[in-house]
Amino acid sequence: MNEPLIFELSAEGREGFSLPEADVPVRPVEKLIPAPLRRRVPPRFPEISELDAVRHFVHLSVKNHHLDRGFYPLGSCTMKYNPKVNETAAGLDGFTGLHPFQPVNGTRGALRMMGELADYLGAVSGMDAVTLQPSAGAHGEMTGLKVVRAFHESRGNPRRTVVLPDSAHGTNPASAAVSGYACVQVRSDNRGLVDLEDLDRHLDGETAAFMLTNPNTLGLFERQIASIAEMVHRRGALLYMDGANLNALLGIVRPGDIGFDVVHFNLHKTFSTPHGGGGPGSGPVGVRSPLAAFLPRPMIRRSAGGRYDWEADSEESASIGKMNAFYGHFAVMVRAYAYIRMLGAQGLRAVSENAVLNANYLMRRLEKSFDLPHPGPHLHEFVLSGDRQKESGVRTLDIAKRLLDYGVHAPTVYFPLIVHEALMIEPTETESRETLDAFAEAMESILAEIAENPEALHDAPRTTPVGRLDEGAAARNLDIRFRPG
Ligand SMILES: *Cc1c(COP(=O)(O)O)cnc(C)c1O
Repeated sequence: MNEPLIFELSAEGREGFSLPEADVPVRPVEKLIPAPLRRRVPPRFPEISELDAVRHFVHLSVKNHHLDRGFYPLGSCTMKYNPKVNETAAGLDGFTGLHPFQPVNGTRGALRMMGELADYLGAVSGMDAVTLQPSAGAHGEMTGLKVVRAFHESRGNPRRTVVLPDSAHGTNPASAAVSGYACVQVRSDNRGLVDLEDLDRHLDGETAAFMLTNPNTLGLFERQIASIAEMVHRRGALLYMDGANLNALLGIVRPGDIGFDVVHFNLHKTFSTPHGGGGPGSGPVGVRSPLAAFLPRPMIRRSAGGRYDWEADSEESASIGKMNAFYGHFAVMVRAYAYIRMLGAQGLRAVSENAVLNANYLMRRLEKSFDLPHPGPHLHEFVLSGDRQKESGVRTLDIAKRLLDYGVHAPTVYFPLIVHEALMIEPTETESRETLDAFAEAMESILAEIAENPEALHDAPRTTPVGRLDEGAAARNLDIRFRPG
C-alpha cells in the first residue's frame, strides 16, 4: 500500500533513456545562456529507469477508485463509462495542434465541429441557440442567469428573485446569488415533486426565473411541468432547467417542448467526458430565440452564403460578453461530438432508456432492504434512506465507507437534503446486469454485517490505502508537500 515517492525510488546515475553520441558540434550551455539566467543548482529530478517510472505511476493509478477500476454509482454525477475512442478523437493532431489565435482559414474544421455540436445540443434540447463557452454545469447556470437578467433588464426591470425547490443542487442557489438574485425556496410535496400551491405563493412580478432540475434530484420526472411553466410565464418570469439529469431524457423529452426557456448541459456527464476529481468539463447553455441575442460571443454560426459552412460571429451588442477564454473547453467538446456522432439519434435514445432500466432494476432489489421514501416512478436514479439502519447506530456515512472495501465507489450521500440519511444511486446505462447484481449483493452483505456487529462498521474502510479520514480537516489542511529525506 505504501508506494514511495518517486524521489525515494531515485538512484544516482540511473537513467530512463539513452541518446546516441552527438554528431554535430557540441556547444557548452555557458555559451548559449547568459550567467544570470542559468540555474546555480541543478534541478532535482528523480533518477529512475523507464520501467520503474511506469510501475510507480501504475501503482499510484490504482490507489484511488476510478471508473476503469470499478462501479461508480455516484448519484447526480452520471459517472458512466467514457468510450476510449473519444480520447483518440480529442488527441488528434489537427485538434491538439490548433491555436486559438490561428488565422480562421486554418481552423475551419474546428469551427465546423463546434457549430455542429451546438446544433446537436439544440436538437436534443429543443432550444434555438446554444453557447459552448461555459466550463461546467455551475458556470452554465451562472451564464444562463446572466442571460435571464439581461433579458429582463432589456424590458426595463432585472427583477429581484430566483425561485428554487428545496431539492435543488447547491450550485443553483449559489449561481443565483452570484448573478445578483435573492433565492426563494419552494417546498416539495410528499411525492417529492414541486408543491404547486407553495410555488404559486412564491412567484410574483419580481421573480426573474424558476430554476428546476428535471428529472429532479430524487430521480423523479416533474409531471406537472405544463402547469409549472404556465404559472411561471404568467408572471413574466422565465423557466430555467438544470440539465444535469439529461441522461434520462435523450431522444424522449426535449426541455424546449415542455416549457423551459433556458437549459444548461453538463457535457462531462451526459455526453461522456472523464470528470472525476473536478477535471475539465463543459456546460453549454441553450436558450429559446427571445434570449439568443444575450448569449456570450463569439457564437459559431452557419455562414450566410459564404465560401465556408461555419464562422465565429462576435457581433451582438446585447450580449452579456465573454464567459471564458476563446471558445471554452475545446477538447471536452471534441469528446462530446465524437460520442454523439458515434451513437446517433437512436443510440442517444437507447442511452436514456437503458439508464432508466438499470436504475429501476437496482431500485426494485434494494427497496427490499432500505427505505425508499419516494416510490416514484423513477427515471435514471433513486434515493434510498438509511434511517432504518441508523436505529442500530450505523449511519449512511458508515455504509458508504464500507462499500469501498467491496471495491465500489460510494453513492452520493446526504443529498438531496430533503431525504434523511440519503443514499443517492445512479448506476448509468453502461453497467452490465452482473455489475448491478454484484453491487446489490455488496449492499445486502453490509446489512448482514450491521445485523451482526454494527460497531465494526465505524472502522470502515479497512482495505483502502488510507482508512477513515477526518474529511473536513483533510480538505482544509491539505498536506501534499514533498519533504526531501
Ligand atoms: C453536477 C450537477 C450540477 C453542477 O454541475 P458541475 O458541472 O459539477 O458544475 C448542478 N446540478 C445538478 C443537479 C448536478 O448534478
